[in-house]
Amino acid sequence: MAKLKPCPCGGPDYASCCGPFHASDPAPDAQRLMRSRYSAYVLKHEDYLLATWHESTRPTSLDFSGEKWLGLEIKKSSAESNTVEFVARYKIGGRAHRMHEISRFVFEDGRWLYLDGEFPDSSSDALPPNSSPIALLAVTL
Ligand SMILES: [Zn+2]
Repeated sequence: MAKLKPCPCGGPDYASCCGPFHASDPAPDAQRLMRSRYSAYVLKHEDYLLATWHESTRPTSLDFSGEKWLGLEIKKSSAESNTVEFVARYKIGGRAHRMHEISRFVFEDGRWLYLDGEFPDSSSDALPPNSSPIALLAVTL
């Protein structure tokens, strides 16, 4: 029997969790896409992240140096507004951070795509509107 490899998003088995989406299967809903994108950050699948990013908000490339992802917790997902609220924890330079985002997704040409996000806890941070901290840290580090 094959040994199960835990999925970075928290699922018990990568091969039946986010693996198929990374291989080419379209994610069936926004939450599954969100989880698979988190796993893609952990696994540094740049192609997958860019391919599932809406072209209107997509960066040209990603740089994964620096952050170490610690875990993902889905808070809420809404099929009406196509949003997924989550908390992702990561470490940079030995310091732990917590990212709380309400991501917005769109369904286009048979695939779910990440559009942008809101950050309910970050009113004091000087984040430009519509830019995800994940995207920012990936681009600026
Ligand atoms: Zn997964």
